[in-house]
Amino acid sequence: MAIRKIITYPQDEETLRKVSKPVTEFDDRLAVLLADLKDTMHHAQGAGLSAIQVGVLKRVCVVDVGKRHLEFINPKIIKQSGVNRIKEEGCLSVPNVWEIVKRPNKITVEFYDRNGVFHTENYSGYEAKAICHECDHMDGILFIDRVEKK
Ligand SMILES: [Zn+2]
Repeated sequence: MAIRKIITYPQDEETLRKVSKPVTEFDDRLAVLLADLKDTMHHAQGAGLSAIQVGVLKRVCVVDVGKRHLEFINPKIIKQSGVNRIKEEGCLSVPNVWEIVKRPNKITVEFYDRNGVFHTENYSGYEAKAICHECDHMDGILFIDRVEKK
């Protein structure tokens, strides 16, 4: 277990804009990455963290909005509904910026767990928002790209 360095915008924008690659091996290295992401997220007091944010170009993220710890490997949002723009959004890779971002209130996500088992699950509210935010990271999208113009 280790706390890794979180890369930040704008200095590390080149990396943050990269599209992460799907995980194909559900091995010990993946377990170490998941453990490190969890430790790093908690240490930085974040609600979610994607592998790209520690410089690893893999479609892996962890989310914990204070309810439970969630892990997603190769996540894909297959359904979304409703609108959630209640909470201001921030990002450990975009320090000191908080903005209202329009997100779905309910999502259905397909993903794999650390053992390579496929799941389809529903999430809502703050968890849905955080998962959308982390999935964006895997495609090189930052939340500041999605801020509604006033
Ligand atoms: Zn982020």
